[in-house]
Amino acid sequence: MILLDGNKLSALIRKEMSINVMDYCGKNLKPPHLAAVLVGNNPASQAYVRNKIKACEEVGFASSLIKMPDSISQNELLDIVKELNQNPEVNGYIVQLPLPRHINEEEINLAINPTKDVDGFHPNNFGRMALGMPGFLPATPMGIMMMLDRYQIPTDGTHCVVLGRSNIVGTPIALLMSKKTKPGNATVTIAHSRTQHLAELTRSAQIIIAALGIPHFVKEDMVSPGTVIIDVGINKIEDPSHPKGYRLVGDVDFEKVKHKCSAITPVPGGVGPMTITALLQNTWKAYTGVF
Ligand code: NDP
Repeated sequence: MILLDGNKLSALIRKEMSINVMDYCGKNLKPPHLAAVLVGNNPASQAYVRNKIKACEEVGFASSLIKMPDSISQNELLDIVKELNQNPEVNGYIVQLPLPRHINEEEINLAINPTKDVDGFHPNNFGRMALGMPGFLPATPMGIMMMLDRYQIPTDGTHCVVLGRSNIVGTPIALLMSKKTKPGNATVTIAHSRTQHLAELTRSAQIIIAALGIPHFVKEDMVSPGTVIIDVGINKIEDPSHPKGYRLVGDVDFEKVKHKCSAITPVPGGVGPMTITALLQNTWKAYTGVF
């Protein structure tokens, strides 16, 4: 069994990126600049944004954090987005999700300039991805594709079952896996909460990509020997033996399933770091204009 180590692979790719940044920018050019908008005090969002800022430092990017209270209005947030669109110092930016309930997320997403949309959530970029045109890919699916590529996991002609159909993970990764690309060329089934006979489907898969948000959902009897498993889930479960009182687990029952797999991502340390590395790569593309 190969452990698809997102921490190790990310460290390698970020090292390569930091060399590129030094070579390209030298002493005279300003480095790429990623901005992040964080609304409210959601601890998970704070941790994600902190990790993104830290990753920028690692590769020599500039970064800035715009922190706003939960009480921000739709128009105030739109003004920040407009300012970032116009700021020539900022190459790319993200508005960390989820946003408070009173904010219309779709309107914010539509207001982001697609050329700075390094999260790849704008319909312009989503459409470009669907058509196979250059643009920003959503960070998590892009990180997964990078991982499959670097670990040279064969995907051509395989049956890939994607569990989950969200706009940020399930749907785009299903699309990318089905494209005439390498990695890609898989025959893809998208499963969701209405899917019947799910275990039969997952047992017929050579690749399972789990993005449901349900701890330990994928059990041993749902997996055939030799399957490649990409576990996207990040779930908090209570654990009194842990100093924090909880720990993070994926959507796959890792300990029980791993011996059946040919390759599997751990949680944490699998898809999570790859997502941030993909965000850095998108920022680099926004800066250089080379896709
Ligand atoms: P969503 O909640 O948006 O989507 C979950 C999907 O799972 C839905 O399509 C839902 O189906 C499907 N689902 C729910 N229950 C079942 C079931 N019993 N059987 C089959 N399908 C089911 O989640 P996200 O896509 O945003 O995130 C998924 C997980 O990935 C979360 O744990 C999240 O924290 C994690 N994540 C990790 C990232 C990383 O960097 N590692 C990045 C982004 C997310 P339906 O559409 O019918 O409701």
